[in-house]
Amino acid sequence: MAAFVLDKRGSPLMPCSEKRARLLLKRGRARVHRVLPFVIRLTDRLAEESAFQSLRVKVDPGSKVTGVALVREFNSGIAVLNLFSLMHRGRQISEALVTRRNFRHRRRSANLRYRAPRFLNRARRDAWLAPSLQHRVDTTMSWVRRIKRWTPISATSVEFERYDLQAMRSAEVAGYEHRKYERVDYEIREYLLKKWWHRCAYCDKEGVPLHVGHIISRARGGSDHLTNLTICCGPCHFRKGERDIKEFVVDGIRCNRILGRAKVPLKESASVSSTRAALVTELRSARLVVETSTGGRTKWNRARFGIPKTYALDAVCVGDVSVVMDWQRPTVEVKCSGRGSYQRTRLTAEGFPRSYLIRKKRIYGFQTGDRVRADVSKGKMIGIYVGRVAVRASGNFNIKTQNGVVQGINHRYCKVVQRADGYGYSPLLRLAQRVTRSKSVGPAL
Ligand SMILES: [Zn+2]
Repeated sequence: MAAFVLDKRGSPLMPCSEKRARLLLKRGRARVHRVLPFVIRLTDRLAEESAFQSLRVKVDPGSKVTGVALVREFNSGIAVLNLFSLMHRGRQISEALVTRRNFRHRRRSANLRYRAPRFLNRARRDAWLAPSLQHRVDTTMSWVRRIKRWTPISATSVEFERYDLQAMRSAEVAGYEHRKYERVDYEIREYLLKKWWHRCAYCDKEGVPLHVGHIISRARGGSDHLTNLTICCGPCHFRKGERDIKEFVVDGIRCNRILGRAKVPLKESASVSSTRAALVTELRSARLVVETSTGGRTKWNRARFGIPKTYALDAVCVGDVSVVMDWQRPTVEVKCSGRGSYQRTRLTAEGFPRSYLIRKKRIYGFQTGDRVRADVSKGKMIGIYVGRVAVRASGNFNIKTQNGVVQGINHRYCKVVQRADGYGYSPLLRLAQRVTRSKSVGPAL
């Protein structure tokens, strides 16, 4: 993990190593600006006096998890600085909306007095996305903006489509022999594997080496067009050879099914493509240079460099990359946790009120979701507890530590490490943990 560095006025500088950050803090040249992720602020430097290198944020948007990678670019490749996997909460949002809808249905059917609508809130923007999808765009943008605030990034790369259809189409025209695009061939194969459900079109065999085969063989004048290609196992490929498909596949129903499937282009789900389009529009409006890429290219890069598949490392492989360095780094898992519930009534499973939440969000200066450190010196609970706090009106809080929830910790023992920002972080950065343990970080942060 690289530490983010700001100058004395808060403008971003180049990130530095953990070791360098530790030395800067030790020598009094820097202050802790933020703990998670770790940001320091130099006290003796201005951005104008500093040299910058080219930094890029790479994003691989997913439906449940979005991978984000911060990389430094040099002339022949990229070096990975930070990896994040951003876990979305689309499911929770849609469930919350269903609950709200049910409340409203009840209010309409119950015998209550008439209340005039408070707002005209029925208008939908042109580029409207469902709240659970909009949330993905918003949280991803929020993280790109954060990283932009902490480092001098100039460009972004986003996985925009599954396959590079344009390159695939021009490759069709060029034909196999004249092609030099190794990457396009890879994408075509991936496309066909997906289209034919990763199994032989002729005998349905799975889990065996699969070939790309022609329906009308090239010897009979068949093209390299995507609609003339299938996926088949080695033996079937060999046995079919140059024969006509109707001659090879005796079963007429299967033959028609194969021919029908071949004609259909593979489509992406509408929700994925609309979310990605919205993300790219937002990135452009944040005045960032956006490179759009394809899932096929990501996979090709990953295979080429021998990088394992994780959300964050997929983000590293997005776009045009020639060399990848330093990818063996820990990933910070960022979980979208929200900022609590607006609804103040807790219900039983049958929908009857069970309890009421307090109106006040802040108790003795603490709020649910704050990261605190409690140093309990008296009583049964003696010890040090660090984690997410859940406040109680009584002043005896619950703290969710790495080893489970501890209950009844009095607010007097607690100190805020970091205010709730709608995200949870794990695993914790080593350096951040060390700073948390020292006395320099208190409620002032
Ligand atoms: Zn087969």
